[in-house]
Amino acid sequence: MDDGLGRLAELPRTFLAHTPTPIEHLPNLSAQLAGASLYVKRDDCTGLAFGGNKARQLEFYLGEALSQNADTILISGAVQSNFVRSAAAAAARLGLACHIQLEERVPDADALYRSSGNVLLNHLLGATLHSYSKGEDEFGADQRLRDIAADLTKDGRRPYVIPLAPGHPPLGAVGYVVAAREILAQLDTTNYSIDGMVVASGSGHTHAGLLFGLRAMGASVPVLGVCVRRGASAQLDRVRAHCDELAVLLGLQSPVKEADIQVTDDHFAPGYGQLNATTKTAISLAAQYEALLLDPVYTGKAFAGTLQLARSLDDKQALLFIHTGGTPGIFAYGSTLLEEKDQ
Ligand SMILES: *Cc1c(COP(=O)(O)O)cnc(C)c1O
Repeated sequence: MDDGLGRLAELPRTFLAHTPTPIEHLPNLSAQLAGASLYVKRDDCTGLAFGGNKARQLEFYLGEALSQNADTILISGAVQSNFVRSAAAAAARLGLACHIQLEERVPDADALYRSSGNVLLNHLLGATLHSYSKGEDEFGADQRLRDIAADLTKDGRRPYVIPLAPGHPPLGAVGYVVAAREILAQLDTTNYSIDGMVVASGSGHTHAGLLFGLRAMGASVPVLGVCVRRGASAQLDRVRAHCDELAVLLGLQSPVKEADIQVTDDHFAPGYGQLNATTKTAISLAAQYEALLLDPVYTGKAFAGTLQLARSLDDKQALLFIHTGGTPGIFAYGSTLLEEKDQ
């Protein structure tokens, strides 16, 4: 049967995430918002070592690694990256070694940032840690990782590198094509009708995969990406490129039109991994009205964008916020989150 998703079923995959994750209504916050009824897709509950969106993405990276008979995974990310922690977890579960390269991406980081949250988990999960002094040099970081991989090969290991820079098959985005199919099936059975979705847009794989999957299956619901890594115009280019790469990978014509790619960088400043006032407020509101815990790097900013969109609507619309996880970051940012004065 043609599900509209091309070669998806032929890609190597290894199951890591607890799915389907729930979709829940947020009644208390919705009551505060004249224009919107809020729902949340609980991808913080994907289960793999504190969950999050990377469990879905890694199903395809690790699937490929296993199909190549790799015995060691290599990955780069920010010091508090959820991707590297999830990769360390997936590797542990599959009996593979994991080498993590942590980039210095966040200025003025304190001791908690360097030792708690995801860093603590990386140690517990048994990963080998390396550091990379630059935070804005994705190609340099990938090259260093390939150098480490080359050394491992000399030692008789079989490394598999998960790249950071763009220009590779978007295997992570495929995980969110699958998530789009899951969401549409859930909306079908629950009779929730959703007028818009909001998601954090970092590497852009989650955003692109979700958007591509929805359009490929004929759903025209708008998807707003909230920039957490770079400004809006650069992010637009990234997401467009990932959609084009997905089309190639799946052997489809891209169903995504230029106007489908929506991004806002209203909640990005002062930069990656740095808190701002709207994000801090969004984190407090979600926690205090709904016991929904959001992180300062990704989901706090995405939820600030959700609240802003909700407040801009005149008629009552239903918005689905994609909770992409990141909760261990709360502990690493503890001192900043508790500061009295907003930055
Ligand atoms: C990585 C991450 C994102 C961004 O996902 P991309 O696919 O890189 O855009 C969002 N939220 C959390 C918690 C993440 O760890």
